[in-house]
This record gives sequence, structure tokens and C-alpha cells, in this order.
Amino acid sequence: MLDESSHEQDRFSMDLPAGSIAVVGVPWDEKSSYMRGPAGAPAHIRQALYSSSTNTSTECGRDLGEEPRIRMLGDLDLPVGEAAIATIERQIEKVLDQGARVLALGGDHCVTLPIVRAQSRHFPDLTVVHIDAHPDLYDELEGDRLSHACPFSRIMEEGLVSRLVQLGIRTLNAHQREQAARFGVEILEMRSWRLADGLPKGLGGPLYLSLDLDALDPAFAPGVSHPEPGGLSTRELLDIVEALPSPLVGADIVELNPLRDAAGLTARVAAKLLKEIAARMLEDFTT
Ligand code: MN
Ligand code: MN
Repeated sequence: MLDESSHEQDRFSMDLPAGSIAVVGVPWDEKSSYMRGPAGAPAHIRQALYSSSTNTSTECGRDLGEEPRIRMLGDLDLPVGEAAIATIERQIEKVLDQGARVLALGGDHCVTLPIVRAQSRHFPDLTVVHIDAHPDLYDELEGDRLSHACPFSRIMEEGLVSRLVQLGIRTLNAHQREQAARFGVEILEMRSWRLADGLPKGLGGPLYLSLDLDALDPAFAPGVSHPEPGGLSTRELLDIVEALPSPLVGADIVELNPLRDAAGLTARVAAKLLKEIAARMLEDFTT
């Protein structure tokens, strides 16, 4: 259910009905290289979701407000410092262990690393579709291998996924191009790829979607720390989400920075994407 009362009352309830999609806030941004802020994002996205300026229906007419299997779990309680990374992994695994699937709200993009660690234990043959302006494939940034610019290098080194496909990318430099070649990352660059060109051959589930909101053009999603012109429109991104093959078993929406989101527009975009992604995950979840 998508009303505010259910969010309070179901907070980390370990009593999730079978086939639940758990929406989990991961309020952590200590690995942001340029500016902090995304830790506050989950609360802003939920607020946009509950706003009576819109309704709880998806574009296909599925009313998520009437759907008891959508469970808003609130925010994880995280320690300060890098200990949070292991806590995120443990807490996500706890939710997965109950037979629920997880849609996580970041946080900066570092949170995807512990989330995918937990997801890969449940789905050993996972394919990740990563939509972002940035490939996040640095070996290290400013001496930090856990920077939000690095998670996909760690994910590939640890062998957590069988395939990584990146969309929306428009900041590739020589180092990250080398990293992509080294790890066999399939990059469909923003300058040359459109959905009409088709998704890569053989792309299938179980599929995990990692969505960095700066994949969108700053005209559509200004509230991010690293706005990068030349990106996707909201419509194009929604169409990509709709076109992803099934089953979509997990997802994250990261890098909303409420401090850069003066009109709350980006939080609204995130809330809409949350609805459409949650509905996709629900449809794909046959228990
Ligand atoms: Mn990113
Ligand atoms: Mn990015």
C-alpha cells in the first residue's frame, strides 16, 4: 500500500506477505565524491509518492494504493562510517530471506554494491541493467575504492553478476573504457543508442535494475549532485523500464540530491519511476 500510515506501521515488520515488493530506504551518502545530500532522498521520494497532487495508479491503470503486496518499509537504521556497508547488505538479505523482493531507494550509488552482494546470493545468475550518465567503473577515486564512482568495478571483480549492461552513459574517459573492456561490460552509449535500436541480444532475467537519476537530462531531473547534459527524457526512461525483459527481480533508484531539487521535481520523477518499477516487479513475481 502506498499510504503514509502503512509506511509507519509496517516499518521493518518481519511479517511480509508472500510475493511482497519491499520498498527500502537506504539513507547513506558517505561515498559521494562531490557533495552530500542523497542520504535525505528516500524521505523526499516517499513524500512525493504520497502527495495528493497525484494518485497511486501506474500508467497501465494498476492502483498500487490498493495493492497489499507493496510494502513501504521506511529507512534502514545505519551506523556512521563504512560499517554501514555491511549493515546494508545484512538488512537487504533479511528482507530477501523472507521471500520478498527489494526495491531500494538510495542514497548515493555506493549503496548498490552491498545491495547487489545480497541480491546475488538469492539470484546467482543475475544480469544487471545499469542506467546512468556515468559508468561508475573507476578502480578508485581520490584513493577510495568504495567511492560512488566505483561500485560497478567492485561488482565485476567480485563476480556478483553474469552480465552488466549500461545505458545512458555519456562521460566515458580512457580509464573507464579500459575498465569496461577488462570486465566485459556492455555499454550502449547515450550519443549513439536509442530504445528503437533494441536492447542487447539475449538480455533476460533474472534482471536487476540500478537506476541513477542523473541518467536523465538535467532538464528533467535537476536534483542530482552530478547533472550531465545530453541525457534521457523522463518518457524515454519510462519506455526503457517498460521494455526490460522479465523477470525484473530487484531494483534501486539512487543519487537524488534533495539539496539540489528546489522545486521537488526530481523527487516526483523518482516517485513515478518507483511506481512503474514496483508494478513491473509485482507482475514478474510469481510465487
Ligand atoms: Mn552512478
Ligand atoms: Mn551518475
